[in-house]
Amino acid sequence: MKIEKNSVVELDYKLMDLEGNIWESSDEGGPWVYLHGHGEVMPGLENELLGKAIGQKVKVEFGPEEAYGPYEEELKTEVPREAFAEVKNLTEGMRLAAESSDGVHAVMVREIRDDVVVIDANHPLAGQAVKVEVKVLSVRPGTEDEIAHGHVHQDGTCGH
Ligand SMILES: [Zn+2]
Repeated sequence: MKIEKNSVVELDYKLMDLEGNIWESSDEGGPWVYLHGHGEVMPGLENELLGKAIGQKVKVEFGPEEAYGPYEEELKTEVPREAFAEVKNLTEGMRLAAESSDGVHAVMVREIRDDVVVIDANHPLAGQAVKVEVKVLSVRPGTEDEIAHGHVHQDGTCGH
């Protein structure tokens, strides 16, 4: 069957930057499964997938606004160098997990100065266009429950 509204679609996917570096893929996280026509995937991709069948591939490019958002200068902060005393081999470009009042965030070390370290909490792909390449693995009609809930029920159970 072809993908239409309320189809449950399983996709192999790759998320790449414009240089072709793979940032995320179904090789690590398993395939994407979504209910078509309910805004679960990026709109540009959903439009392209309409009418596609098993084995067909779609490649879509997204600007930063549709992907990880603009680069935000205010997400760069200066932290006193001594806060990193326990980090071995602190280098620019290194990724760290930083703890704050609202949880743990991945940050990047932007710049190391004599007394401060500039850390950047932007997503590494913020401000960048990305490419998404998908291949349709399976298509089935959504069940009544899935359509009513607006999402896929994996193994027939509602996870919400
Ligand atoms: Zn549900």
